[in-house]
Amino acid sequence: MLRKAGLTASFISHVFQILGELACDSIENIYRQIQSVSQPPLTNHDDIRNIVIIGASYAGYHAAQVIASNLPPKSPYRVVIIEPHSHFHFTWVLPRFCVVEHQEHKAFIPYGPYLKGSPEARVRWVHERVAQVGRNSVRLAESQEQIPYAFLVVATGSGAADGLPSRVAADTKADGMALLQDMQRNIKQAQHLVVVGGGAAGVELAADAKQRYPEKHVTLVHSRKVVMHRFGPELQAAALQGLEDLGVEVILQERTTSSSIVEGQVTLQSGRRIECDFLVNCTGQKPSSSILAGLAPGAISPTGTVRVKPTLQIQDEKLPNVYVCGDVAEVGIDNPNARSAMRQGMVVGLNIVRAATGGSPTKTYKPFWGEGVIKLTLGLDKSISHVSDGKTELCWHSKERNLALMSAGAWKRLGAKPFEDHDGSEKQVV
Ligand SMILES: Cc1cc2nc3c(=O)[nH]c(=O)nc-3n(C[C@H](O)[C@H](O)[C@H](O)COP(=O)(O)OP(=O)(O)OC[C@H]3O[C@@H](n4cnc5c(N)ncnc54)[C@H](O)[C@@H]3O)c2cc1C
Repeated sequence: MLRKAGLTASFISHVFQILGELACDSIENIYRQIQSVSQPPLTNHDDIRNIVIIGASYAGYHAAQVIASNLPPKSPYRVVIIEPHSHFHFTWVLPRFCVVEHQEHKAFIPYGPYLKGSPEARVRWVHERVAQVGRNSVRLAESQEQIPYAFLVVATGSGAADGLPSRVAADTKADGMALLQDMQRNIKQAQHLVVVGGGAAGVELAADAKQRYPEKHVTLVHSRKVVMHRFGPELQAAALQGLEDLGVEVILQERTTSSSIVEGQVTLQSGRRIECDFLVNCTGQKPSSSILAGLAPGAISPTGTVRVKPTLQIQDEKLPNVYVCGDVAEVGIDNPNARSAMRQGMVVGLNIVRAATGGSPTKTYKPFWGEGVIKLTLGLDKSISHVSDGKTELCWHSKERNLALMSAGAWKRLGAKPFEDHDGSEKQVV
């Protein structure tokens, strides 16, 4: 009890520390803007220098926002965001929208409003994929355009080989919605659904599917002794209980030998065969660091993350202008998460603004356990929130009333009005 109270106090004190840091950063920014008033305006277009950001999800989009809103008005720098997706993908709700119909458009948040207020000429969007990073420029995969950079931010996160439910393997909103609708249809039609992987995505999807379709047989296969193995025992027990209460069959310490279904069955490593007419693979997320393989092979760890200094500059003395943040960065976090990705994006953004205005990039990122707070849904109307410092856990149960979970809040945080999207192809307000 005392330890839990200590954990709560430490969490609150960290929040105040972050608020203090934000206040100092704002004062620093005001000072920078005042100083820039006396600087001469840019006269030569050739003087423009690029701050290239690869990937505009939690880490990269936030870094872009920090840089675009903190550069002084007469700065020679502009932000170039390279991101193949037409919309921001709100990953947290993907397992839910793989099961529940007519909500999928809410996972795609229009890009743009988050950068509102930044001078228009300061930001260029390039909706493409980077194929390779060089010493002074990046090469685009499709157009082959080379975009030079003065500073580079690699925020390419992680990818999942099978896409859903962890990532959406589509660049346009229409294609992304179609993938989610396909998944909903397949789950609806299945009689024996097998979900592989007992991390958050697998647990949430299996629980939602069983509650939505109680007549189906839903099996969760997980290779470890417990579900949610990267979290504490209290959450693990609650997750297992939640699944079993709904009637999900949980098979632990087993793997499927392949994802192919043969004669209505899949085979487990022990030789056991289970009935299956649709399988969802929730395993296999990997850091997306391959674009750095040519430039900085020594900085890529065996797991694929990129080693960084506390300032989030890449761990390579020859590349002080290359920064890495979010899931792809090796920052010593067991459970990479959106809050830490955003805070890393902020540290990178502030360091680049400092370096671009004649200062030193001295802001550092130190992981804080409180960033790893998660809300795990256990069916359509229940969730359990959890945070731990590695020794003590805090868990609290809630009733969930909203099928779209925190979608509306995410839209608002990114400056968009839920769920208005005026990109021309779809205009949906639900
Ligand atoms: C199902 C699920 C639920 C989750 N729930 C939570 C939660 O409740 N709370 C929480 O804090 N975290 C949660 N997370 C984790 C969170 O989504 C990730 O930590 C977060 O997405 C990491 O953000 P990121 O910016 O590092 O990278 P990502 O979100 O992985 O995005 C990387 C971006 O880079 C782009 N990109 C990749 N390669 C290239 C390239 N070559 N060229 C150009 N662009 C490229 C991609 O298109 C993408 O937009 C969840 C994750 C999943 C899968």
